[in-house]
Amino acid sequence: MTKFKDLGLKDEVLRGITDQGFEEAFEIQEAVIPVLLSGRDVVGQAHTGSGKTAAFALSMLNDITPKKGIQGLIMAPTRELAMQISTEIKKMGKYTGIKIATVYGGQGMGIQLDALHRGVEIIVATPGRLIDHLKRGSIELGDVTHIVLDEADTMLDMGFVDDIQFILDLSPEDRVMSLFSATMPTAILRLGEDYLHNPKQFLLDADDLSGEGIDQSFLVIKDRDKFKYLLDFIKPLKGQSIVFCSTKYRTRDVAKYLHQEKYNAVAIEGDMSQSRREQSMAKFRNGKADILVATDVASRGIDVPRVELVVNYDVPNQEMAYFHRIGRTARAGTEGRAITFVSYSSVGDWNIIKRQIKVPLRDLNQEMNIEISIPDPLKRQSSSRRYGGGGGSRSNYSRGGRGGGGGYGRGGGGGYGRGGGGGYGRNTRDDRGSKRRDSGDGKNSYGGRSRW
Ligand code: ADP
Ligand code: MG
Repeated sequence: MTKFKDLGLKDEVLRGITDQGFEEAFEIQEAVIPVLLSGRDVVGQAHTGSGKTAAFALSMLNDITPKKGIQGLIMAPTRELAMQISTEIKKMGKYTGIKIATVYGGQGMGIQLDALHRGVEIIVATPGRLIDHLKRGSIELGDVTHIVLDEADTMLDMGFVDDIQFILDLSPEDRVMSLFSATMPTAILRLGEDYLHNPKQFLLDADDLSGEGIDQSFLVIKDRDKFKYLLDFIKPLKGQSIVFCSTKYRTRDVAKYLHQEKYNAVAIEGDMSQSRREQSMAKFRNGKADILVATDVASRGIDVPRVELVVNYDVPNQEMAYFHRIGRTARAGTEGRAITFVSYSSVGDWNIIKRQIKVPLRDLNQEMNIEISIPDPLKRQSSSRRYGGGGGSRSNYSRGGRGGGGGYGRGGGGGYGRGGGGGYGRNTRDDRGSKRRDSGDGKNSYGGRSRW
């Protein structure tokens, strides 16, 4: 392991890092910092929690001169992430005299304009709002020498590719640029080819998808039983937990039920005002709230060190989201757990994700002896709104046998591979359709597009 002081950073930068308690550079930092300092572009793939922020920020803090205009530009997909990056950089850069502005949608222009008028050297921005500023002339990129695209795959997923290109086209050619992404789909590689000059590539963990270091498990249960299981799992916790839901409605409901059970929970979902999202995040980050209930807006990049458990209350709708979500635990080398609740209608989706998981995955139905009884979709369609109405196959999960150590061996029942009846695989789509109609609480759980 290399110490930061051997990486060629200036004293005032080093002092800021030491104040953070960082001494040894993480692998990505050791790899990337000297390259960026030498002026060469970088493409980095490294999993969440590996220390990318310092990897790209320290060379910026090292090379940027205070009071000489905007020289550093960092783009990130979400406001939470942008704020987190700013906070980290402010801490690391506190002895450099470099000022930072965070620019994102949802906050009044006024505050951001004030910050910009006072003069800053680094902008951390979400692409949309940055473009607003560029168009009205409140930000100019003519002096920019350092550009970072953080969580590039998420930015592309969120449809920011044109925005990013627009912004990059307005920036000086002569600059050092780095691009970080947890995955490297071809769209990212192409963006890299178009905008980076002969970048040095660091693919630190091509098999990041394993979610290594995270104890991953899943439990197949009826949708309407999820909440009581959630309570069982969070009751014994000492640390914090995050509960990911598929929609904002679910997020609100779960947070509400947790409050009713006297848990200290906060929520984050896309419909909340910016200030309320910030409040929730702040409460969670400083430990005033034990549980964060969130849609996938919170799944990427957010770093809260003490998250002990991630519960996927709903199976995520893309496989990548799964790995981003569980990456919220086991940060910076600590241990963590992730449990995924799989409702009967999501078994097909879950099987797709499962195939990507390369580490042992614990089957809690076996361990806790909870039987799965997936209703036959054909019967269900002909019967009324509730599961199993007249059909024979009602669920008969049993809560017995929990807590007792639950060895790993095959419990009774648990017949996951039902075969015969409406096995999984083929039924995802239809099932989802009917699920929408009968989701226990009458909410549109798997609703249309704007789920986050
Ligand atoms: P990433 O962006 O790769 O997901 P972050 O930059 O958010 O990771 O860093 C993850 C956590 O590790 C943060 O809490 C950060 O403060 C901490 N960290 C980063 N670098 C170091 C280091 N060299 N030593 C100790 N902790 C570090
Ligand atoms: Mg990050």
